[in-house]
Amino acid sequence: MKTQLTIALPTGRLGESAIKQLQAIGLANNVSTKTRKLTFIDDSAIQYIMVKPVDVITYVEKGVADMGIIGSDVIMEQQSDVYEVADLGFGQCKFSIAGFDSSLLNQTQDTVLTVATKYPYVTKAYFRKRAQKIDLIKINGSVELAPLLGLSDIIVDIVETGNTLKANGLTIIEDMMEVSAKAIVNRVSYRFNYERIRDITERLNALLEGDFDA
Ligand code: AMP
Repeated sequence: MKTQLTIALPTGRLGESAIKQLQAIGLANNVSTKTRKLTFIDDSAIQYIMVKPVDVITYVEKGVADMGIIGSDVIMEQQSDVYEVADLGFGQCKFSIAGFDSSLLNQTQDTVLTVATKYPYVTKAYFRKRAQKIDLIKINGSVELAPLLGLSDIIVDIVETGNTLKANGLTIIEDMMEVSAKAIVNRVSYRFNYERIRDITERLNALLEGDFDA
């Protein structure tokens, strides 16, 4: 039986913030993004695995990892069967609709808008609620290029500072919803490792509330 707790962390900027937060509660002491190593074991015998952000949920859902840290944008897109146990207060950004022409959204509902995005599920659900017909184009990166090159009328993406949009001459047409980093837990693992997972979650929450004692 697996007894060691495994936490899946996303590579990239979200992962760096996640490691800092775990270190602030006395965990992940030797985990680093500055090496090509993909697995680490800290002084509390917790194993950490570094995976692509879109794969964090897969590892947790399948039970290979007991816990994970991931942006709520990925959770909303993947509609997965995991518990969300803490909002970690970093990685804050928002889902927005952006483009060159803000009047595009006010056209008759029969107009079909071409929308490029890395988030097809979130995008379809949002426009379905608005009863706006769309032609969806799934893009895997640099979505901002799509309207520039005439591939789409508008885009749906996560926006943090807005600098990428600005640098490409695009503006926010509508903000959709807030995004932030969350701690997620495998459903079965939550039952079997309740005490250990609760302890980590409580320490993370205490840190956010400013009353964590290391
Ligand atoms: P920004 O220029 O700061 O608005 O960031 C926009 C670019 O970074 C877009 O390509 C987004 O897909 C990506 N991005 C924005 N916020 C985040 C985040 N919290 N985590 C990962 N990628 C992000």
